[in-house]
Amino acid sequence: MTFLPDAAGVVVIGAGAAGSAAAAHLSAAGVDVLLLERSAESDPRPGAAALTPAAVRELAVLGLPESDTSGWHRTTGVRFVAGTTGGMRLALAWPDAQGRATHGLTVARSVLDDTLASYAVRSGARLHRATEVTGLTRDAAGRVTGVTTEDGATVTADVVVDASGVQTVSHPGKKSGGPVAVSADFESPRHGDDHVETWLRLTAGDGAGLPGHGWIVGRGDGRVTVGVGALADDTTATTDACAGVLRRWLTALPANWELTETTMTGPVAGSRLATTGPSGRSERRYNDGLLAVGDCASVAHPVTGQGVAAALTSARLAAVVVARALAHPAGAARDAELTAYDDVLDGALGRHRTLGRAAAQILDRPLVTRLATTYALPRQPLMKLALGALTTPTPAAVETCVTPSTMGRVTRAADPGTERGVDQR
Ligand SMILES: Cc1cc2nc3c(=O)[nH]c(=O)nc-3n(C[C@H](O)[C@H](O)[C@H](O)COP(=O)(O)OP(=O)(O)OC[C@H]3O[C@@H](n4cnc5c(N)ncnc54)[C@H](O)[C@@H]3O)c2cc1C
Repeated sequence: MTFLPDAAGVVVIGAGAAGSAAAAHLSAAGVDVLLLERSAESDPRPGAAALTPAAVRELAVLGLPESDTSGWHRTTGVRFVAGTTGGMRLALAWPDAQGRATHGLTVARSVLDDTLASYAVRSGARLHRATEVTGLTRDAAGRVTGVTTEDGATVTADVVVDASGVQTVSHPGKKSGGPVAVSADFESPRHGDDHVETWLRLTAGDGAGLPGHGWIVGRGDGRVTVGVGALADDTTATTDACAGVLRRWLTALPANWELTETTMTGPVAGSRLATTGPSGRSERRYNDGLLAVGDCASVAHPVTGQGVAAALTSARLAAVVVARALAHPAGAARDAELTAYDDVLDGALGRHRTLGRAAAQILDRPLVTRLATTYALPRQPLMKLALGALTTPTPAAVETCVTPSTMGRVTRAADPGTERGVDQR
């Protein structure tokens, strides 16, 4: 057991994707980072995360060696399913920011978290597990000066990065206003499927319509992860209701997936998606010495709910801002750098979030979904545009991709484009 230090340059709360990425970026830039994670090493996290090409690109920018991800399952595209038996199915290659084919990855969430946390440590961060942050310390002017832990310890820091997820430490008791999503793992002969299957409309086995949208993700390890999410920012939706939809949807899925209660290998679990902040919470991601990243900053995609790519992008941008700020002594110049974080984040993710929110509100209407699946799905160019808009980063996110350690620009890999078409798998 190692003792908690009483001071650090930066304290990062939470070693999920966002926290570990921020810690790794900052450590690589020579910043003294303390990463505090409440879960113990042995705490499992069910489910798999489908990483979009944008997330894969962020892992490369982070400098994560390819050997760390070599066992992860590679996906080459998305298969849209209209949702009715025998209905329209369209497979599209994952596009990169230039529309060329690229790849995504699928990985168990606990493997993703462990890989990034261990990379943060290799980069120089000090990680303390089983250490729950219970509050923030502030000076007389209200500026955050550090954190307190459940053991009663206090750690002071020049800057605190909150990466504690949807139930953020900095706004205790407040919940994300985003929609709910749940997922469950199953043994399936189709675990090697290289497409993320996205169901735009859900039905039960008896043909009854169900709310929300669904996805099936092959993991390449004998299992698939099946998920259901609501589209609307419905604060009344619960994970139990969503789990009920998932169970009813299972009865309508093609038999070749073999997705039944018997092949289910764990519980149906989920939470709110971090697509909007807690009601009443300021949309600012920097306040008084405290920066929010990842789900804590509510940056998940408003339509798809995918949050890992945006979590990694926000972590990188926060690290750039903090590294620049710490080059100044405490005072106005440092604060001016930190205050820029909101603008930097908005520049990179703002348009994607605004468009996504508008699309989410439109798509939430059953009539619109029916029209979209009837008229848009058969039009491959239109769906390619939609997939690009939903999954590729905005030019600003790509172009401003300096990292704190290199301040260099990312080189885009040139992949030849490929087309897909109707896919009846
Ligand atoms: C059912 C479901 C399926 C999803 N599927 C996908 C997907 O396929 N692809 C995708 O891109 N996104 C997916 N998402 C969204 C994605 O999981 C999140 O956006 C992503 O995990 C955000 O990462 P994060 O690091 O910000 O937060 P988290 O992953 O939640 O990490 C927060 C960390 O902080 C720790 N922590 C919390 N409180 C404290 C505290 N007080 N003290 C210390 N540590 C603390 C937690 O233990 C955790 O390790 C899904 C979400 C749900 C609900």
